Amino acid sequence: MSRRAKIEKREIRWRGVAVSEGVAAGRVLRIHTGGRGNIYRATLDTDDLKREVRRFQAAVRLSRRQLLAIKRRAEVALGAEHAYIFDAQLLMLEDRKLLDEVEDYIRQECANAEWAVKVASDKLLAVYAEIKDDYLRERSSDIEDVTRRLLVALSGEAQSRRLTADAIVVAEELLPSSAAELDFSHVRAIASDAGGWTSHTAILARGLGIPAIVGLRDLYRHARTGDEIVIDAGRGEVVLHPTAATVEHFTEARKLVNGGVAAATDGGGVPLLTTDSVEIILRANVELPAEYEGVRRYGARGIGLFRSEFLFTQRGGAPTEDEQCAAYTEIAALAGADGAKVRLFDLGGDKQTAGEFETAERNPALGLRAIRYSFQHEDMLRTQVRALMRAAATGRLDVVLPMISDVSEVRRARRIIEEERARLGAEGHATGELKIGAMIEVPAAVMVADQLAREVDFFSLGTNDLVQYLLAVDRSNDEVAGWFRTLHPAVLQSIKRTIEAAGGAGIPAIVCGEMAATPAYALVLVGLGARVLSMAAAAMPRVRRTLARVDAASACEVASLCLDSATADDAEEAVRVELGGRWPHLFSPENLPAAKSGE
Ligand code: PEP
Ligand code: MG
Repeated sequence: MSRRAKIEKREIRWRGVAVSEGVAAGRVLRIHTGGRGNIYRATLDTDDLKREVRRFQAAVRLSRRQLLAIKRRAEVALGAEHAYIFDAQLLMLEDRKLLDEVEDYIRQECANAEWAVKVASDKLLAVYAEIKDDYLRERSSDIEDVTRRLLVALSGEAQSRRLTADAIVVAEELLPSSAAELDFSHVRAIASDAGGWTSHTAILARGLGIPAIVGLRDLYRHARTGDEIVIDAGRGEVVLHPTAATVEHFTEARKLVNGGVAAATDGGGVPLLTTDSVEIILRANVELPAEYEGVRRYGARGIGLFRSEFLFTQRGGAPTEDEQCAAYTEIAALAGADGAKVRLFDLGGDKQTAGEFETAERNPALGLRAIRYSFQHEDMLRTQVRALMRAAATGRLDVVLPMISDVSEVRRARRIIEEERARLGAEGHATGELKIGAMIEVPAAVMVADQLAREVDFFSLGTNDLVQYLLAVDRSNDEVAGWFRTLHPAVLQSIKRTIEAAGGAGIPAIVCGEMAATPAYALVLVGLGARVLSMAAAAMPRVRRTLARVDAASACEVASLCLDSATADDAEEAVRVELGGRWPHLFSPENLPAAKSGE
């Protein structure tokens, strides 16, 4: 019996950006989410060709099994009528002519299977590109999808996201569409090469209370499925192939940190007052159904932001009016008397688009995104508005318009809403009142906040995009993460101005960017006048614990110091000194902005 000696792998450490608290240890599940990647042409010896064909056939079988499993799951989750979308892909994998073409290419050209798949796929895509019929032409996305799946199968990676055992997900970048496929009950932690604090992976992880570290640069290249790994989001540290001593160290840290996180479920349902009796309302940001439980558990005062574009991923395309109506009715029931603010699809930019609405832009953050996208696809917008008004007949729902830059966009959206209300009435549908709010996340909206405040019922201050657009820093690019400065005086002045404009018009301003979910920043927000904060439910206990132990008057003094600062560094220093000095029991150094490493 031959027994291979176990090769000890060297421990490797990475430091990244910790975007969701917690410590975890386990085995890697490597998830390929990128495009086709680089495909190389190899010339094989004739002796190897038979084996190469068999390798291709095995990849086809694996891909078929995966697709059948996905189809079955889709049937359960979405109903049989939606599962048909996978049939086209299955048929391709059964198309003997296509499979023969790949196998013949391997044999005749002495090519590797990856290259043969690429050649056959490119040929097919070229044929589809010529097709006049829009619907058929768009089926080319199925070819791309099957090609990707085959290439992953050939690489030896399991692409199925159906986790049966707990795992730590490692990806180059976990795109929202891939994340939606994961069974989160088995995800212990997420570690990705790309992404930033406000990337969707980060928001999702926080929402689900899963530890996550992003910006790890080349972890994906080194990690293999099944490798042992530990992650400590408190320190932003990831260790691959940890030694026994490292595992022990992390296990201790896990007991401490995760114990603290689990114990932090207090306070839901009780009004949150600062020590000088200023009431702060905490609402929940919600995207995935998996987050609903957190909303109940942490006692959110309604839903401050429902990112409805998730329905696109879930559905694999534009959801129908009835599907949306059902989803919004569920959200309204979850939110109860405090209501839910449903944001119109924020598609484009860093968010997903799907199927027929796919766009390719050079500069997507400044492109056809959010409300612009909806205006451009007016049927889609009208469908969403109708679904919302129908669902509003069952519970309290408000609508939020994303990426507003002036009042004309509000008026145009309002006109459409009123037209659809009249139409629904004529059709005999019951409709509910729908208050209209504007996302304030574009600098122009801050400049005209006084005018906007007179036209809407509330503001939703989206600090993630506000920082991105004010400072011209891509929110999901880790290369420029150092320039994403939440406490930049320009950001703070914009927030103050927006809150004052809302106050002047007597409307609420809800801060719903990630800033609100960070205790130190939440305190600054209160100092700037914010009274309603909306965040991932899992972040609520921490923020609640902090704000219940500070006074709004002191928060105001801290905010003034930040506002008077010349740079983000100075504002961060002020926060470090003031919070660390005034409330040392609440703010340990790791809960404060990091000190400058020197210029
Ligand atoms: C924001 O931009 O701050 C926001 C709340 O919305 P999103 O993160 O979904 O863009
Ligand atoms: Mg935004």
